[in-house]
Amino acid sequence: MAETYSECLFCQIGQRETPAEIVHASDAVVAFRDINPQAPTHILIIPKDHIESAADLTKDHRGLLWDIFETAAHLAKAEGVAQSGWRLVTNVGPNAGQSVPHLHFHLLGGRTMRWPPG
Ligand code: AMP
Repeated sequence: MAETYSECLFCQIGQRETPAEIVHASDAVVAFRDINPQAPTHILIIPKDHIESAADLTKDHRGLLWDIFETAAHLAKAEGVAQSGWRLVTNVGPNAGQSVPHLHFHLLGGRTMRWPPG
């Protein structure tokens, strides 16, 4: 059973208590469309367990990270952006712009992206 927090928005989405356009779900991971998309494909991939950010990951999360990266590659194919390219990014803390304190990876694709990000 996942450890979740009732006041956390992404825990609520993972538990299906708050609606979202879910595109993939497994025992450990949920993926849903970003409410404010920054690219034609903009999907958030989250663990069902509450982990605040990438800074809180440990060796025990190796399996979870594999699930997340496998989900990203699977969804990139499903979205038709596997060949054109895609970006997987996670923000940690205020300077990076993390606005939801529950680990999430942005899967972005469907347009040309600049580097470095703003
Ligand atoms: P970050 O700024 O990296 O923490 O990313 C948080 C992301 O969550 C933003 O891109 C928001 O648009 C997105 N977001 C916030 N609330 C929701 C929601 N209810 N459903 C889907 N995406 C959301």
